[in-house]
Amino acid sequence: MKYAIIIPDGCADEPLEALDGRTPLQAAKLPHTDALAAAGSLGLANNTPAHLPAGSEVANLCLLGYDPDQFFTGRAPLEAAAQGIELGPDDWAVRCNLVTIQDQVMVDFTADHISTEDATELLRAAQENLLADYKGPGRFEFVPGVSYRNLLLYRGEPGQAPPFSAETRTRAPHDLTDCVVSDDFPRGPGSALLQQWMDASEQIFAGHPVNEQRTQRGQRPATHLWLWGLGKAPQLPSFAEKHGVSGVMITAVDLLRGIAALVGWPRIEVPGATGYLDTDYAAKGQAAVKALDQYDLVCVHIEAPDEASHEGRHDAKIEALQQIDQHIVGPLHEALAARGDYRILVTPDHPTPCGTKKHSHGMVPFVIAGSGVAADSQQTYDEIAAAASGRRLDAGWDLMDQFIQHGR
Ligand SMILES: [Zn+2]
Repeated sequence: MKYAIIIPDGCADEPLEALDGRTPLQAAKLPHTDALAAAGSLGLANNTPAHLPAGSEVANLCLLGYDPDQFFTGRAPLEAAAQGIELGPDDWAVRCNLVTIQDQVMVDFTADHISTEDATELLRAAQENLLADYKGPGRFEFVPGVSYRNLLLYRGEPGQAPPFSAETRTRAPHDLTDCVVSDDFPRGPGSALLQQWMDASEQIFAGHPVNEQRTQRGQRPATHLWLWGLGKAPQLPSFAEKHGVSGVMITAVDLLRGIAALVGWPRIEVPGATGYLDTDYAAKGQAAVKALDQYDLVCVHIEAPDEASHEGRHDAKIEALQQIDQHIVGPLHEALAARGDYRILVTPDHPTPCGTKKHSHGMVPFVIAGSGVAADSQQTYDEIAAAASGRRLDAGWDLMDQFIQHGR
């Protein structure tokens, strides 16, 4: 048996007036995914328990079969794993965005998709100017990642209490777009330290040559650091241990790379995969088809629908969904069917409604098709058809076991 999982990030949405009351999934032309719906089984799954952040970090762990109450420790440690950074038992990782805040409003949580080069220079300035006064315990270090997605690492000392605890609360900057952020700074243990650095970054970045050049080029400056998503390293049993199947991940996003590393999956890096709307969908589809030669399960994650939602662009979201259908779902389904027994699952991690431009809690539609999967009466893949199927998993992490073991 071969398996494929396709994750159009954040594709679940709400009916939109601009689409005559349809959701983007309903408005998009998705012949290949609709064919799976007609042949297979639809349902709704909840990957975002109400007491946890409604983000890709929790939702993708759930989607892959891991109960977040047992396994989720924070977003940043997952991204540290993606970069091959080992966290010891006393260490913490903190996610560090470079953002644009103007007049207290989160104008852009990506600082205009800042280049890795610009980000690295600004973080060097932050390292020299912000962290020099920290007296311990332990030590802090900024680690550049890709673009606006960077890390602040805390290397603790055995027997010394860290500045943070599981009670430390932060807000994800992508959930604050267009909002006044003055009440959204960290809370709880260690929050004063984080806020002090976030505040002080304003002055360090304001006169920095990198920002002067950005402004001259017509790009938004990176005005602040935004620190969030902190945690210690999670301990996950491997996917193979849990499900008896070896898998591989195709994604352009560090978070998903990290989850793959922690569940014991290798990653296939696809040239042209950007994690944005300009990604090379066909290259990802071809890489996924090829991976079936070597692996029992291939998981393809596509960030583009989520990015379109964060920008509130339903047209761009529909276009991304159609590209995924044509270049990834179609070729993968065809390749699987040509090989014999197979199962295929299409599901987003969480909803990201274009109306709010934010990740939200709530059910997402999934479709399973392939060997041993009985057809229900639904003919299309979208939120409304999935609700009409009557199949509903309040614990989304049960879906993976059903998909792998039983096909329903
Ligand atoms: Zn997501």
